[in-house]
Amino acid sequence: MSHVGETFFTSVGCMDGRVQNPMLHYGQKKFGVKYADTITEAGLVGLLAKENVDPVLLGSIKKKILISVEKHHSKGIVVHGHQECAGNPVEDDLHKEDVLKAVKTIGALIKKDIQIIPVFITRNKHLWGEVEEL
Ligand SMILES: [Zn+2]
Repeated sequence: MSHVGETFFTSVGCMDGRVQNPMLHYGQKKFGVKYADTITEAGLVGLLAKENVDPVLLGSIKKKILISVEKHHSKGIVVHGHQECAGNPVEDDLHKEDVLKAVKTIGALIKKDIQIIPVFITRNKHLWGEVEEL
């Protein structure tokens, strides 16, 4: 399913194009891998932090994460939220809590012995790329 040297981590978070490059660079450095398997929805952590998460969404997320972990031998999962999110337009502190809740949801969902790291991405003037581990 993947060739030697094609190494992956799993990026789970918002669809926002501004955060994809920072996430890729973060994961490459963190896990020493080349590629990000990218699983997104608009404001995903907000959706996963709810009391009653949409089961269709959960099933879809689970399927994608398991492909990344089992077929691509992902080295780790990063769950991310970010500033100025159109899909989850809440204050940063609440958004960070949503990231932590989403990590718990995902851990219970996939039941795999794999590291899941919560992060929050912020803007520094015009540049996106500050990745804070929560
Ligand atoms: Zn967003």
